[in-house]
Amino acid sequence: MGRKILAAGNWKMNKTPSEAAALMDELVAKCAGAKNDVLVCPPLVCLPAVIEKAKGTNIKVGAQNFYYKDSGAYTGEVSAAMLKDLGVEYVIIGHSERRDYFKETDEIINLKVKQALANGLIPVLCCGESLGQREDGVTFDFIRMQIKIALRGVSADDVKKIIIAYEPIWAIGTGKVATSEQANEVCADIRCCVKGLYGEEIANDMRILYGGSVNKACAAELFAMSDIDGGLVGGASLKSEDFSIIANA
Ligand code: PEP
Repeated sequence: MGRKILAAGNWKMNKTPSEAAALMDELVAKCAGAKNDVLVCPPLVCLPAVIEKAKGTNIKVGAQNFYYKDSGAYTGEVSAAMLKDLGVEYVIIGHSERRDYFKETDEIINLKVKQALANGLIPVLCCGESLGQREDGVTFDFIRMQIKIALRGVSADDVKKIIIAYEPIWAIGTGKVATSEQANEVCADIRCCVKGLYGEEIANDMRILYGGSVNKACAAELFAMSDIDGGLVGGASLKSEDFSIIANA
């Protein structure tokens, strides 16, 4: 198993383009030579500035969203091809905020996964249960359903490119981190689900991140777990000092 840890930052709807450029100046300096792979996902309008700053550095750039159609009358949307042409390499798909606030279904997420892959973007596919689902004991069933639908029709060759992020909704932006054991057992079950769908080799090679209030204090313990291959980080990714510690955790 040669899975490298990935520290991925989801900036959400924070930072103007000039603020994003300033944050990138700090990150480029502080994350240079980082132990882990580093990815930042700024807001759409910040992508050109961030991509420019990331050139020639160890920082990869991803988008937070796109629309799954090729082109056409979809006012306000951008396509995967547009992101690719801009120099974007990764894209977050299925984040719980998009599922919840923007009513993205598992079927839409599946279309997005396939469209991202078809356009050469690497999906960071998010899944995760609510507090109610955890309390009802349906966490594993629910997440397996999310994964199975999201990956429907995705070939074995394509699935190798995907990164999965397990993000329990009750831990996102709440300061309430899942324990390393809680996070690891779900990441391990996701790996088991992928194994059932695509076989052991693909499952063993797949990077599975944990997300949910990851911070500089808990990152090292989480990333040391057997089935956690890094973190999708919201709040702490906006602080260069904290994110650089996570990038080395
Ligand atoms: C996220 O944005 O995916 C996230 C996990 O946010 P936070 O780290 O702030 O909980």
